[in-house]
Amino acid sequence: MGDAKTPLRRVILGTGGTIAGRASRAGDNVGYVAGQVSAQDLMAAVPPLAGWPLEVEQVAQIDSKDMGFAVWQRLAERVAHHLAREDVAGVVITHGTDTLEETAFFLHTVLRPGKPVVLTCAMRPSTALVPDGPQNLLDAVTVAGDPRARGVLAVCAGGVHAAEHVTKVHSYRVDAFDSGDAGPLGCVEEGVVRWFHAPSAQSQAEVVDARRLEAVMQAGAMPRVAWMTSHADADGTQVRAMLAYGAIHPEAMPHGMVVAGTGNGTLHQALEAALLAAQAQGVQVRRGTRCARGRVVPGAAGALEDTHGLAPAKARIALALELMGL
Ligand code: ASP
Repeated sequence: MGDAKTPLRRVILGTGGTIAGRASRAGDNVGYVAGQVSAQDLMAAVPPLAGWPLEVEQVAQIDSKDMGFAVWQRLAERVAHHLAREDVAGVVITHGTDTLEETAFFLHTVLRPGKPVVLTCAMRPSTALVPDGPQNLLDAVTVAGDPRARGVLAVCAGGVHAAEHVTKVHSYRVDAFDSGDAGPLGCVEEGVVRWFHAPSAQSQAEVVDARRLEAVMQAGAMPRVAWMTSHADADGTQVRAMLAYGAIHPEAMPHGMVVAGTGNGTLHQALEAALLAAQAQGVQVRRGTRCARGRVVPGAAGALEDTHGLAPAKARIALALELMGL
C-alpha cells in the first residue's frame, strides 16, 4: 500500500451521469433520471473503499448530454487544485457516458497532467438490479493510485483507455467503450491493473500545464465550432444556413466547422463546395471520417485540412482550443 513517500490519497469529483442515476423501478435500465445521487453516496455504496484515504467533492450534478464549457472550466480548476497537492496521487471523476470522451479529451488537452486523472461512469443507473457503477468506481480509484498511471484515462467495464482514443461505441451494453485501432491501455483485474501499454503523459515535469489552464479559465466561452456529416444527397444547405444566420446574429457565427466525411474523409461535392466557401470567408474547417474505426490517411489531395487522426467529437474540441491559441 505504499510508504510515506507515496501519496495514496485520491480525490473523487462528482459530475452526475447514469452512475448517479435513479429509476423508480429496479429493473429499469433506460427510464431513469441521470445525476441524482451524490458522489459521497456513490462512494458509500462501494464497501471495499471504506477506510481508504479518499476525499469527495461534487463539481456538478448533470446528465452528461448537457455537458458544456462552464462545467469543464470548473472541473479543470478543481482537478488542477487537487493534483497540485503533494498528498494526492490522482483524481477520479464520475461522469455520464455520453460525453465522457469529450471531457476526457478536453482535460487531456488543456491540463496535460503528470498525475492520473481517471474518468469513470456506468451504463446502468444506481438503482439497477445489477448496477455497474460500484465496480467501475472501485476500478477507477485503483487506477488513480497505480504508480504507472498518468495523464487522463477512462475506466469502464474493466478496461483502461487513453483520453485520446476512448470512444463510446455502444448505446446500451455495459462494456460501452473502445479505443479503436490503438486498443485499451490495460485492464483492472481484482484490484490489480494489468498494463498492456505504458500510459504517456504529455507533461511530467509539471503537475498540470498552468499556462493553458489560465487561458481556459479566462475565456468567457469556447469558440463556436459546428460539427456535421457528409452523406448521400448532402448539399451544403446546413453550412450556408449557419453562415446566413451568423451574418444576422454575429454571436452565432461559427468560427470553425468539423465535417465527418465518408470513408477516408471524402465529402459530397456539394457539401465540399459549401465548406470551401465557408473557409474562404475565414471559417476554419477540418475534415475527419464518420467511420467508427481508422483515420483520414494523409495523401489524398484536398483543400480542407484533416483532423490528424482525431474522431469528430474530439476534433471539434481540438479546433476550438486551437482557435483560443492553445
Ligand atoms: N445520459 C447519461 C449521461 O451521459 C448516459 C450515461 O451516463 O450512461 O449522463
